[in-house]
Amino acid sequence: MTELPVPALSLVALIGISGSGKSTFAGRHFAPSQVLSSDGFRAMVADDENDQSASAAAFDALHYVAGKRLAGGRLTVVDATNVQDHARTNLVALARAHDVLPVAIVLDLPEDEAWARTQRRPDRTFDRPVLARQSRDLRRTLKKLSREGFRTVHVLRGHEEIEAATIRLQP
Ligand code: ATP
Ligand code: MG
Repeated sequence: MTELPVPALSLVALIGISGSGKSTFAGRHFAPSQVLSSDGFRAMVADDENDQSASAAAFDALHYVAGKRLAGGRLTVVDATNVQDHARTNLVALARAHDVLPVAIVLDLPEDEAWARTQRRPDRTFDRPVLARQSRDLRRTLKKLSREGFRTVHVLRGHEEIEAATIRLQP
């Protein structure tokens, strides 16, 4: 078991390609009300969690709610791939605006394993090149997280490390 220290008042960005287990991880380690997922907000604004054309509106709404939570001093977890620079930049800015610490938890599962899981899911229909692009973005992401302003960066490499991780909230 590996305890990952996380400040009790922080904005936690889960980072990982589709199928890496972000939503599963969030469900295991955080209360449902603490987790804001891009899928959930796409469904909220467009009735379809896979509707990529709804992403802009979904993230607007997600950031708005995250801001309200952080203003109230509540730990907030963002369950989205967060492999694109602008996604993380927005989260760091949001954390700073509310004077809370931005935390990154990376789920770095090999692309083949994520793809195998994805193919077993009826709710995911994207093609392999989409996942390959996410993987490339993730590799770049890993090199620059600290520079981007994430004060705590936890990288879980592979299934075993992801399974063994627990969260320890720090006052
Ligand atoms: P997406 O970005 O598409 O939302 P995700 O990163 O949230 O993906 P999950 O939905 O958590 O990924 O997991 C993808 C699939 O892998 C699911 O079918 C889930 O049941 C399975 N899975 C997740 N975590 C584990 C795990 N630790 N062990 C085995 N299977 C897992
Ligand atoms: Mg998910």
